[in-house]
Amino acid sequence: MTSLATRPDVSERFGNARALTCRECGASFDLGALHACLECFGPLEVSYDLPPVTRRMITDGPQNIWRYASLLPVPPDIADRPNTEPGRTRLVRADRLAKALGMRQLWVKDERSNPTHSFKDRVVAVALAAAVEMGYQVLACPSTGNLANAVAAAAAKAGIESVVLVPANLEPEKILASAVYGGLLVKVEGGYDDVNRLASELAEERDDWAFVNVNVRPYYAEGSKTIGYEIAEDLGWRLPRQIVVPVASGAQLVKIDKAFSEFVSLGLVPEADVRVYGAQASGCAPVSAAYAAGHDVVQPVRPDTIAKSLAIGNPADGPYVLDVVRRTGGTVADAPDEEIVDSIRLLAATEGIFGETAAGVTLAVLRRLLAAGQIDPDEETVIINSGDGLKTLNAVSGAVSLPEPIRPSLAEFTRLYEART
Ligand SMILES: *Cc1c(COP(=O)(O)O)cnc(C)c1O
Ligand SMILES: [Zn+2]
Repeated sequence: MTSLATRPDVSERFGNARALTCRECGASFDLGALHACLECFGPLEVSYDLPPVTRRMITDGPQNIWRYASLLPVPPDIADRPNTEPGRTRLVRADRLAKALGMRQLWVKDERSNPTHSFKDRVVAVALAAAVEMGYQVLACPSTGNLANAVAAAAAKAGIESVVLVPANLEPEKILASAVYGGLLVKVEGGYDDVNRLASELAEERDDWAFVNVNVRPYYAEGSKTIGYEIAEDLGWRLPRQIVVPVASGAQLVKIDKAFSEFVSLGLVPEADVRVYGAQASGCAPVSAAYAAGHDVVQPVRPDTIAKSLAIGNPADGPYVLDVVRRTGGTVADAPDEEIVDSIRLLAATEGIFGETAAGVTLAVLRRLLAAGQIDPDEETVIINSGDGLKTLNAVSGAVSLPEPIRPSLAEFTRLYEART
């Protein structure tokens, strides 16, 4: 840890980041604890003054997201500070799944090996680093589940307090997997959008708490770029032609697209057209509905789906998702719960990857887009498995048949084995 006396000047505290820039009107503000534009209330985004970055500088870096630290709003010594070290997850060549779908080249970016088993560890690590620089002592969030796990774990590792707010009806696995880290866990009656509203009110009152996805959201969101960087690096420094990304707030999709553009402009990968597709559950598909209707704004909905990690009825980055998919020639589509469950099983049965409901959504939407001729089966495609099926066991418990126990007898085993379907 850098002591206060030797702490680098402001420009270095956030690495190569230089300002917070409004995504609506373009106004720029000093880096700090600001998340909405003072001119127009639009959302702010971190902008950079990027130095030359070489592949070698990246590959010589640590085996976690900090190999891309020069492209994030974090201090240069970030890798040496206590943190959960997320990232460097596998890009799995999914030949058996590709064959089942009639595709030529398919990859699964498998986020299960992150410290709390979802991609949320990436965004939280970046938010925490920036929050510590800004002097916050408490890390907090409203969460659909995985974020709560990641915040509670990251705060534990950094030795600071955490306060996580989740919907009371969340999967018990996700509630336990937050509580175990010992911070304050609050179960709130209502859906995620109610939890989020309470968190926004709290963030106003407790301005010494860093709500990762509220008042330090510009920093948090940047963490998702590392998924895009890793995909490009693991493909051998090039971009795929098509990518399907699950959409809750939409930040992950928008930032993967930003990562690809940054790598092209830094000369780290050859220029390529990447079609970006967004995936939602039909029971919570506000962005998909706006896309289908040709709208630029997203009408909030009341979520009702087994894909709780994606159940945000009023997605902050919805309009920017629409921009990205329209600009790149992709789409946003949705799939119903039965297809989500069936796709969780297909991914497990073909690739040995047990993804959570968000993975089921992503694969189900890929299958729909293939059937509709909107995704080219011959072009190289990446899908994201953003979380772990062990956290959403109930979603598949009705769909997977479980056997009655037998006595430890050869005859009983043989009868069971021969009756199998
Ligand atoms: C949060 C979450 C998402 C969606 O991320 P956004 O950036 O909010 O769109 C996708 N998958 C899983 C497993 C998540 O927890
Ligand atoms: Zn503005």
